[in-house]
Amino acid sequence: MQANANFTLINNKLNLAEIVAEDVQLKRSGKAMKGCCPFHDDSTPSFTVYRDNRFYCFGCGETGDITDYVMKRRGYGSPLEAMSEISERYGLELHHIDMDAIRARQEKKQEKRKEFSGYYAKHREAAEFLKERGFTEQTTAQTFHVGYDDQGHALVLPFKNEYGELVGKVHRYLDSDPKYKNSAEDDLFKKSELLFGFDLARKTKDVLYLVEGYFDVMAMHEMGVGKTAAYCSAQITKEQAQLIARHIPSDVKIFLIPDNDKSGRQQVRKNVQTLRKYAKQSISIISLPDGIKDVNDLLISSYGWDDVNMTPFEKYLLFEDLDNCLEITDEYEVAKIWADRTQNSMLRYEMAEELAKRWNKPLDIVNDFMKGSATLDHDTKLHTATESYAAYVNAVQSDEKKIKFGLREIDVLLKGLKKKEVTFVMGKSGSAKTTFILNWLYDCVMKQGLNVNFNSLELAKEAIIPQLVQIHMDMTSGEVESQARDGSYHDNLVELIEALDEKCRIADEDAQSVEDIENFIVTANESVYDDPVDVVFVDYFQYLKLNNSINRYEAASEAAREFKAIAKRQNVHVVVLTQVNRATGGGGSGKMTMESAKETGAIEESSDYLLGLYRPASDPHLQEDEAQAVQHDMYCQVLKNRWGATGEIPLYFDFFTKRIKNM
Ligand SMILES: [Zn+2]
Repeated sequence: MQANANFTLINNKLNLAEIVAEDVQLKRSGKAMKGCCPFHDDSTPSFTVYRDNRFYCFGCGETGDITDYVMKRRGYGSPLEAMSEISERYGLELHHIDMDAIRARQEKKQEKRKEFSGYYAKHREAAEFLKERGFTEQTTAQTFHVGYDDQGHALVLPFKNEYGELVGKVHRYLDSDPKYKNSAEDDLFKKSELLFGFDLARKTKDVLYLVEGYFDVMAMHEMGVGKTAAYCSAQITKEQAQLIARHIPSDVKIFLIPDNDKSGRQQVRKNVQTLRKYAKQSISIISLPDGIKDVNDLLISSYGWDDVNMTPFEKYLLFEDLDNCLEITDEYEVAKIWADRTQNSMLRYEMAEELAKRWNKPLDIVNDFMKGSATLDHDTKLHTATESYAAYVNAVQSDEKKIKFGLREIDVLLKGLKKKEVTFVMGKSGSAKTTFILNWLYDCVMKQGLNVNFNSLELAKEAIIPQLVQIHMDMTSGEVESQARDGSYHDNLVELIEALDEKCRIADEDAQSVEDIENFIVTANESVYDDPVDVVFVDYFQYLKLNNSINRYEAASEAAREFKAIAKRQNVHVVVLTQVNRATGGGGSGKMTMESAKETGAIEESSDYLLGLYRPASDPHLQEDEAQAVQHDMYCQVLKNRWGATGEIPLYFDFFTKRIKNM
């Protein structure tokens, strides 16, 4: 966490072009800056610095961010060392840079280098072993510096970190078991946090291949493919996925090449999930030809790289699932589930094509089926009392997360909200309704630890975040702005940003449909949060993209019902803001009634809770001193509460800091 915060801090506060300009001359070229590469003998300007503070050399392939640049330029082995220089040189206050730890690390590196130098000798038996496995000296000696340990009678593979720094070694015994032994773990060498071969592979700008073993990486180089790293076990770890996310550009395609056996294939789902949580790149699976068990096997077989099969992971997992079905009707259901969660329509079409063949059905019918026009399965939707009671027991026993407001009296009245429920919050313009839900969102994330999607159809993300900063830091908007202007990152601010990064996502596209909002939940569940989304905020209803083939009132009512369906399907609590324009006069000072809800569409029927907000100070008829006298007054009306009492709760609205508190 701390290290990540430092990377962010450095990239936000410093300008890579200025730092590079200390070393080489840069000239503007389109949106980027170009110059001669400081890392290789470069006569044409191949070194490019982009506006997002990343660099790429089209000559030698060197790439990275500010920390990488300083590391590489000054010959540091770890980001920590680069950060300590950056901190001193540019006067940045970074978190927890421990100089003693850095020095100790440097010494340990020196030791490792010495300890290793003796091992690079050639040995007949070792050479034969590698030759049989299809390797040439070019790959083993020159690219991977494979050595030999006489005493252990083993090949020695140097394990480098992402910066090409030697951090450990792997013994591959030639005639004893177990075959592999790694050097002891220390703070430089944690195998589960490293990727073998990544120092070379991370320079890719198009594809990255991920394989299971060391020899597979070397085999990929031997075949002339390269761009490969090994996760060195069956499972990709969180730290390895984070490493990829940090170093690999988002438009690079990732290909997983699992071992061609049952356990390799079984791990694909888990590995895709882990990768998708951190890395945003597209992921495909490469299947090896029948009978070929891994990439090294491919190298020595009569097959070649052209014989492998590439499949987008959705399609791969769909067919894995189908193969596990016992009956054809189960296959239909499984296919339907995948159709619903595959956003890419071309990919859905591809699935349909193969399914039509598999099921021997006309393509247009299968294609229609895969479009997502689900009809009710009436056989299974008529429930027995046994099923119903089991569902009830389940609901009672599962200590369902209750969602609170963080405002005492509202929480007392509503006793917490549940998932699968919908809250509509009504207010006129000027009633501070967006501020109300931002306070609520803040409490959900910071105090209740809930995962939150915020679908903001009105405000852009850069207009939302300063309000959350205000609430968090108890600052006026002016103070937040001047803090941003001079770029100061207090620990307090970093704490907020990190918590939000972990538990909140903002979708600020202005034309979102109800379906988009559901798709954002699915995406977040699959690839963002460790646990599923708890609460979804929609701000606000009148900006939704509605079905325009029916009249607006009908379309709005349909959307409201659809929110209830989403809450159930996705197991979330949905909060929808709605702006009331007509009923009762007086801007945001007007009280809401059940009638106000009717203006929007049939929202009352679809809501479990219906809240109204008003602020007397926004009455346009008030004199300035009268408005000032009530500027902190705000009311939350509970107009509908599926489980109990209604009422009106006075709140304290801090006009300057956007905080809403108990009276
Ligand atoms: Zn270069």
